[in-house]
Amino acid sequence: MQVEPFTCSSFMTNSYLCHDQGEAVLVDASCETEAECEQVMQVIEEHDLDVRHLLLTHAHIDHIFGCTFFEEEVGQRFQAHEAAVPFIERAEEQATAFGVEVEPPSVPTTHLAEGDTVSFGDVTLDVLHTPGHSPDSISFVHRPSRQALTGDVLFQNSIGRTQGLPETSRPQLLHSVTEKLLPLGDDVTIYPGHGPSTTIGQERTQNPFVQEALRA
Ligand SMILES: [Zn+2]
Ligand SMILES: [Zn+2]
Repeated sequence: MQVEPFTCSSFMTNSYLCHDQGEAVLVDASCETEAECEQVMQVIEEHDLDVRHLLLTHAHIDHIFGCTFFEEEVGQRFQAHEAAVPFIERAEEQATAFGVEVEPPSVPTTHLAEGDTVSFGDVTLDVLHTPGHSPDSISFVHRPSRQALTGDVLFQNSIGRTQGLPETSRPQLLHSVTEKLLPLGDDVTIYPGHGPSTTIGQERTQNPFVQEALRA
């Protein structure tokens, strides 16, 4: 599975185009401007990719800016955890709170939950429910290639924010990290919602928040 990162908007949020055998999924829609959206489309066209699924790790405003654009381009709706629905319904409210604008995306009708799978090319992604930063946080794992897309749960040397946002829980976030992500294995590369890619091993041994959680 090839993973192409795109860092977009003033929130510096990552979207990822994952592809294999000419088929692709887009994970998150952080592209805020038309130029940012077009960059993703250019890679889709360059590789002549058939985008099979549009996926959200969670529905915070910085991850859904480009939803409407890609839904129109690809002719599909984004799929997300059921708990994303109220966040998407409040997209404009979320935008106002951060002083930005958003074209409200359509409400997801295909919901993803722990244990579900998403397939494209020869790839099957496993869905993990990893709440805490938001109730709808999910991660996508490709075990054979040792790669995972984890949204705003675990970052290089940091963890997802659990203050100043609705429905967050720091204990739940740490539980998601220690019980869902760390068991994936030290050799797994993670592609987070913000910042550079890292590995489970690096975060297990060097991330102060993870170390604190493991000591607790
Ligand atoms: Zn977030
Ligand atoms: Zn984010």
